[in-house]
Amino acid sequence: MELNKYNEITGKLKTALKPARYVHTLGVAFTAASLAMAYRLDVDRAMLAGLLHDCAKCFSDEEKLELCREGNVELSKWEIENPALIHAKLGVYIARRDYGVEDKEILDAIRTHTTGEPEMSMLQRIIFTADLIEPNRDDIIPEMADFRELAFKNIDEAIYRITKNQLEFLSCQPGKVIDPTTVATHKYYKALFEQEK
Ligand code: FE
Ligand code: FE
Repeated sequence: MELNKYNEITGKLKTALKPARYVHTLGVAFTAASLAMAYRLDVDRAMLAGLLHDCAKCFSDEEKLELCREGNVELSKWEIENPALIHAKLGVYIARRDYGVEDKEILDAIRTHTTGEPEMSMLQRIIFTADLIEPNRDDIIPEMADFRELAFKNIDEAIYRITKNQLEFLSCQPGKVIDPTTVATHKYYKALFEQEK
């Protein structure tokens, strides 16, 4: 990525995001760039999608709902009940409004980074995976080393294993809502993985 553009975007993000979120953002951007190399994808676009994936994370729940109204961002019942999920769809609006991004594939990758979705493009798969395996994620997940290795070898299997882990974790957290999109993503990548075997 051109240095001026990189400095401009990271400068904006640094003031918008909390320090830990900013560090996570850089981790996702560099991991996404590395995965793009492994899968022969455009490194700059992966980097940009990684930098912007959490660009709407800095707002309060009320602000998020207000911005969704302003940007005509349609929310599902699950997202309204679980506002932590809103930043992904809202990120599309903020990436366009505040960062001038119009590249549909980049916007799709931002939109699906939290829950994934079936039949994702390689860029979507990369951002979904990079978000979870980036170096600053603390290794409380015992399988983290496996996920990191697998992401570079077989990203579909990595998504299958990561979503399996997420669903198992959520199902033993009382009161946690499970987004049906995460379930759909898991089913799709499980079937794909079983087909590949
Ligand atoms: Fe996020
Ligand atoms: Fe993130």
